[in-house]
Amino acid sequence: GVAVEQQPFMKAFVRLCTDGWDQGWHERNGGNLTYRLTDEQVGACRPFFYDNPSSWVSMGVQADNLRGAFFATTGSGRYMRNVQLDPAANVGIVEINDAGDAWRIVWGLKDGGVPTSEFPTHFMNHSVRVAATDGACRVIYHAHPQNVIALSFVMPLDARTITRALWKAMTECIVVFPKGVGVVPWMVPGGSEIAQATCELMKTYDAAIWAQHGLFVSGPDFDTAFGLMHTIEKAAAIYAEARMLNGGSDEFRNTITDDGLRAIARDFKLDINES
Ligand code: 13P
Ligand code: ZN
Repeated sequence: GVAVEQQPFMKAFVRLCTDGWDQGWHERNGGNLTYRLTDEQVGACRPFFYDNPSSWVSMGVQADNLRGAFFATTGSGRYMRNVQLDPAANVGIVEINDAGDAWRIVWGLKDGGVPTSEFPTHFMNHSVRVAATDGACRVIYHAHPQNVIALSFVMPLDARTITRALWKAMTECIVVFPKGVGVVPWMVPGGSEIAQATCELMKTYDAAIWAQHGLFVSGPDFDTAFGLMHTIEKAAAIYAEARMLNGGSDEFRNTITDDGLRAIARDFKLDINES
């Protein structure tokens, strides 16, 4: 069989980690990535699974639609920068138990590694996005992109205001994220409380800002998830730069109007979220 590291899904997983590092979104151990394997991928990897997996570890959250699922996940405290050098040390595959509330490591995270501290948020986001997309969602990605974080210091922390600023920052943004971007107020990271708050928003949005922290995105594949992160961060950068060029004011000389946004939605047949 083909080693886990050589499986196309794992190569794509590793490539996203490297690309995110190259973008400057992953200082130290910042950010994390999870991917829900297909049954075929689980079958192809199974010969390489540990004979004695770790014991089950409770997540503090539960999802019926992810009972028995398998996820590739970055390790807690591991650096995105190092993933490409040694995937089996920095990434693991975990199995979810039949109750849908605990994981155990079946591959990788060697030398005592554990899944990302944000695994409860990833897991609950997967559950909500799987339901919202009829099973299509497979990737949840968290990064610390600087412009998104900076905007969360100066903008009202409501999804409507931030979504419109980002939609108007670049003409094709509304095509890339027609549902907009949700916003979670500042919270302690790494637990079930922030997981519940985030997955509540992911019922509507496929991306959510964590104020003063970063951004979560979802997608059916690595390209779509990375592209969504990249587009939102670039829009935030353009918006921030335009405001700085404008002496800090958001009263721009030229902008895309609300009617302009509606015209794009009509011509591109977008199912936009007007709320
Ligand atoms: P981990 O190293 O546990 O993945 O945490 C990084 C992070 O970004 C927490 O939000
Ligand atoms: Zn983080």
